[in-house]
Amino acid sequence: MTALEKLAELLFPNIDKTPADYEALYPPRDLKEGARVVRIAPSPTGYLHLGVLFTATINDLTARSTDGLFYFRLEDTDKKREVDGGAADILAGLRQYGLQIDEGYQGEDASIGAYGPYRQSDRAEIYHAYVKALVLQDLAYPCFCTSDELSAVREQQEAQKLRTGYYGKYATCRNLTPEQAMEKIRAGQPYVMRLRSPGDESRRIKFDDMIKGTIEIPENDQDIVLLKTDGIPTYHFAHAVDDHLMRTTHVIRGDEWIASVPIHLQLFRVLGFKAPKYAHVSPIMKEENGSKRKLSKRKDPEAAVHFYTEQGYPPESVMEYLHTIANSDYEDWRRCNPDAPRSAFPFNLKKMSVSGALFDLNKLNDVSKNVIAAMTADDVTQAVLNWAKDYAPDWYALFAKDIAFTTGIFSIDRGGAKPRKDLAKWSDTPDYADYFFHAPTEYPWPENLQADDIRKVLTAYLPLYDPAQDKQEWFDTIKALCPSIGFCPEVKEYKKQPDAYPGHVGDVSTVIRVAMTGRRNTPDLCSIMSLLGRDIVTERLNQALATL
Ligand code: GLU
Repeated sequence: MTALEKLAELLFPNIDKTPADYEALYPPRDLKEGARVVRIAPSPTGYLHLGVLFTATINDLTARSTDGLFYFRLEDTDKKREVDGGAADILAGLRQYGLQIDEGYQGEDASIGAYGPYRQSDRAEIYHAYVKALVLQDLAYPCFCTSDELSAVREQQEAQKLRTGYYGKYATCRNLTPEQAMEKIRAGQPYVMRLRSPGDESRRIKFDDMIKGTIEIPENDQDIVLLKTDGIPTYHFAHAVDDHLMRTTHVIRGDEWIASVPIHLQLFRVLGFKAPKYAHVSPIMKEENGSKRKLSKRKDPEAAVHFYTEQGYPPESVMEYLHTIANSDYEDWRRCNPDAPRSAFPFNLKKMSVSGALFDLNKLNDVSKNVIAAMTADDVTQAVLNWAKDYAPDWYALFAKDIAFTTGIFSIDRGGAKPRKDLAKWSDTPDYADYFFHAPTEYPWPENLQADDIRKVLTAYLPLYDPAQDKQEWFDTIKALCPSIGFCPEVKEYKKQPDAYPGHVGDVSTVIRVAMTGRRNTPDLCSIMSLLGRDIVTERLNQALATL
C-alpha cells in the first residue's frame, strides 16, 4: 500500500464503495433532449419564506417549460441551526402553492425517485467515498489546525492587509506528509478534510450565468473544508456531489452563492464531474423610504409564507403575483390569455430581473382581487370557511351556520362582465360581510340630507319592500316613491335645479342602503336586502328611524 492509500484507509476504514460504483448507481437520466433537471434544496433552518417559494417557482417553471424534472433535496447538514418542523413546513408550503415536485424528499421516512437519498444527512457514506477518492489522488488532506490557530492566522493576515483564509503558505497542513497526518489521527487529534486547491488567485474564471450574464471572478485558491470535524460535508462539497449524482442540469438558486461559483466549478473539475449551468436569482426587494433593500426575514412579516396563509391570500393569487415578478411580460401575457393555465406562459430565465424584482403588497392585492373575482361563490365560501376555521373562529361559526346564506353573500355581484373586486384576501371577509350578520351601529347618512328628509324616505319605503321584486321592480319602487316625499326621481332633472328638491332617487337608495348596512357603498342593495329577508329589512328600517 502507498502512503496515501494507508492514509485513506485510516481516514475512511468503512468506505468500500468508489465513485465508479456511484456513477453506476446513478446513471445519466433518460430524458428528452433539452429537458432540464432542476431542484430546490432548502435547509430546514426556518420556515418557508418567500425567497425560497420564489426560487422554487422558477425551478418548477424551468422544469415544466422543458419537459424536465423538478426535485426536492433537503440540505440538513447544519444541525445546530435546524428548526423543529422546518422541513415539513417547507415541503407542505411548496405543495400548498401547487408546485409540482416530481422527485425527492417527501417527509421523514419517505422519498420518491431513484437518485436518493434526498436528505443530505442520509448521504454521509457517499460524501466520504468521494473524499476518500480525492485523498488517494492527493487532492484532499486532513487539517488539524485548531480554531485558535486559524484565528491567529486570520488576525495576522488582517494586520498585513492580506486576503484572509486558508491558502498558499497559510495552508500549513497541506504540507504534512501522509505519515505525519496518520500520526496525528492515531493520537486522536480532531481534523477537518480540506481540498488541496489547484487554483491560482491571479487567474480569473469566466462563466455564463443564465440570469446575470457573463461573470468573471478570480479562481479559488483556498483549501476549503470538504468535511467538518464530525464528518458532515460543507454546503460547497455536498452541492458538487449531490448535483452531479442527482444529474442536475441547471442549478437555479439565490444569488448569495455567486461568489462561491469559483469554488464550485473547481470542485466539479477535481471530482471529474461536468459542471451544471448556473442561474442565480436576485433577491426579492422592497422599497422603503425611497430606496430598495432586500426583503428581510427578520424585519418584514410578508417575507414569511405563513403571512399569506394567515391573511388568507389564495395560493393562486400569490403564485400569479410571483409570476408577474419572475418575468415582466407575464402581465401582458395574462391580459391576452385571461383563462390560460400559468404553465402555458413561455417562461424564460433570461427575462428575469438582474437587480431584483420589487415586491409590492398593493400589487399583490390587485392581482388577488382579480383572482378572487374569477372564482365561483361556492369556491369562495369554501376557502373562506377554511381560512376562518384557523384564523377567525368567531367568524367561522357565523359563516358555517348557514352555508346557503354565506354562499348567497359571496354570490352578490359575482360573475358577469364587470364583477366587483372588493376582496383581496379572506381576512377582508369579516368586514365585508359584517352587515349580513350584525345590524348597523352607525349611520353615515348622505350629508346633503336633513334628519327630516331621511325620516321621510324611511317611513315612505317601510310598507313598500317586497322581497319578490326583481332588481328592476325594486328600483322602480324607489323611483316611484320620490315625488310623494318631494325627491326628484331623475338625477338629470335634479342636476338642472338642485335647489328644488332635498335630493334625488340616488339619495333615496343611499338612505335605504345606509339603514340596511351602515355603509354608503356596498354591492347590489336589492340582492343584499333579498338575502337579509323581509323581517330583517323591516327591523333595520325601524331601527334606523329610531335613531333619528
Ligand atoms: N441549502 C442551500 C440554501 O438553502 C441551497 C442553495 C442551493 O440551492 O444550492 O441556501
